Amino acid sequence: MKTTNISLLVTTLALSFSAFAQVDGVIHAAKILINPEQDALTEQTLVLEDGKVSAIHEGYRSLTSLGLADVPVYDLKNHYVMPGMIDMHVHVTFERDKDANPHNWLTKEDADYALHSIPYLKRTLDAGFTSVRDLGSNYKVIFPLKRAVEAQTIAGPRIFAAGNAVTATGGHADLHGYRHDVTEAMSYSLGVCDGADDCQRAVRDVIKHGADVIKITATGGVLSNTAAGVNQQLTDDELTAIVSAAHNLGRKVAAHAHGTGGINAALRAGVDSIEHGSYLDDESIKLFKKHDAYLVPTLLAGHTVSEEVLSNPNMPKAVADKVREVAPKMEKAFRSALKNKVNIAFGTDSGVSRHGDNAIEAELMVKYGMTPKQVLISATRSAAKLLGQEAHLGSLEVGKFADIIALEADPEKDIKALSKVAFVMKNGVVYKQEN
Ligand SMILES: [Zn+2]
Repeated sequence: MKTTNISLLVTTLALSFSAFAQVDGVIHAAKILINPEQDALTEQTLVLEDGKVSAIHEGYRSLTSLGLADVPVYDLKNHYVMPGMIDMHVHVTFERDKDANPHNWLTKEDADYALHSIPYLKRTLDAGFTSVRDLGSNYKVIFPLKRAVEAQTIAGPRIFAAGNAVTATGGHADLHGYRHDVTEAMSYSLGVCDGADDCQRAVRDVIKHGADVIKITATGGVLSNTAAGVNQQLTDDELTAIVSAAHNLGRKVAAHAHGTGGINAALRAGVDSIEHGSYLDDESIKLFKKHDAYLVPTLLAGHTVSEEVLSNPNMPKAVADKVREVAPKMEKAFRSALKNKVNIAFGTDSGVSRHGDNAIEAELMVKYGMTPKQVLISATRSAAKLLGQEAHLGSLEVGKFADIIALEADPEKDIKALSKVAFVMKNGVVYKQEN
């Protein structure tokens, strides 16, 4: 009894003294974007404590003047410092390899996918992306990876994951291109649904298995091996049922959608984001604004497959035809959304492209009309809002997570600077530091 009282007292004392907090380090930043929606500041000192920003001071402050000792000081006096970037559309459990045997996947165990994902996660983090939203990966692989990153067993960005996508039977995220008994044996039934009731069950089932967000395939897609076009695949009733089931359980809905009818039906049903949005029209623009929904453009995916179709004779005809038809539409859709001030959150569909090349999306966004400043906002503040994490991520005010990167040059002057990441900190822990 006595022991219990003493340990309770010690715990209470520890909690009441801030001196017990762990100071992770101090950063001296030549230029720093505290809030991407405002101007960058020069010559600032950041104090990081318990994985969060605990103080910001004007000028370069010494440890002594801050009352600190034996704490690492990160000299970023030649760098542009900003919040870690957020990629809202990745698939970290695979990477497209046009030279690989297309049937390789039939030979692999789930653990093969998990082990192969380790360098993908490391590359993504080293590229300055401290958070990602994984929109479609086998739940048996992605959730263990997420837990391994959280436990710091492996290095990687924070993962917000959907697990398996919710899709109609024969829909974009179902398995295609093999004889019936092979698809039966190899497909994960999790997420496949037909009818409003069944789709509500599917949403609840993926959440039960760990989904942070619901990914749906509202329309056909480009890379599924089926000549089914890119029109609406989930019915209006199914979409409404999915959104209400997800929102009731506190999950947002990300809708893969290319065809106009499917984009608009998904927006009417109340999804939180449209992924790709290739054929969006004037009605879509009105619906985006009415529902305060986001477009996640994934220009890099269109760019990557457009190059591949020119050089890969082994791309199935059903896929190659859709690539030629859909990919060129993405620029116009993006320009229209931008002109009409639709919310745009940064997302690449990496896995279609190489993991770690995520920042190329930023160059495409600028090429298609965005200012570098708008790109920075889309990859930080806007992404954090769409994640529902703006209290923690996307800016560096006091109290936000210490997810911080440093670039060799100023991305507001040349967006290519986003590809030259010299320093990466996540949750107060340094993962990359180049001199
Ligand atoms: Zn995707």
